[in-house]
Amino acid sequence: MHYQGNIIRPPSEADSIILQVTVGCSHNRCTFCGAYRDPEQKFHIKDERIIDEDIAFAAQYCRRQQTVFLADGDALIIPQQRLLNLLARLRDSVPWVRRVSLYASCRTLLNRSSDELAALKAAGLSRIYMGLESGHEETLAAIRKGATASEMIAAGRRVREAGIFLSVTCLLGIAGAQYSQDHFHISCA
Ligand code: SF4
Repeated sequence: MHYQGNIIRPPSEADSIILQVTVGCSHNRCTFCGAYRDPEQKFHIKDERIIDEDIAFAAQYCRRQQTVFLADGDALIIPQQRLLNLLARLRDSVPWVRRVSLYASCRTLLNRSSDELAALKAAGLSRIYMGLESGHEETLAAIRKGATASEMIAAGRRVREAGIFLSVTCLLGIAGAQYSQDHFHISCA
């Protein structure tokens, strides 16, 4: 497999085929996240030829792995038709896979309509991980998450409406001592 830079995945993707389809994160500004700061990991969508070589590798050597995770930090940013084509190639090449997942930022999700998300679901995308981090407005601004709480809610709803499983990450200590009570109550509401 052609891996470039740090490869980050959710804990629940420990047994997945990790297919790196983008490098880095298109946002890459969150204050707490150093995952893709290496200049070598400047954000870009990987070349189709490289992705196809990795799919072919998975078809040959990953027959016991039943889930695929599309890395890196915001793989949903791949244009719709290109992502649909990629999901179709996965379906043809690794038909035993029962779940395909990716990370998506709030901003990227809001750039997709419900119909577009539903089309991705029909093509095989079954789980989206979204980093909420906090529902507390001041904290979201302080960590430069690039989205407000209401935008996060709208993005999450859009995923659910499309029938895609949504997994949301909330960072317990991210608000510091000053806002920890507000962060806890608002984020869990
Ligand atoms: S959106 Fe996610 S991957 Fe990108 S910088 Fe923020 S936490 Fe890191």
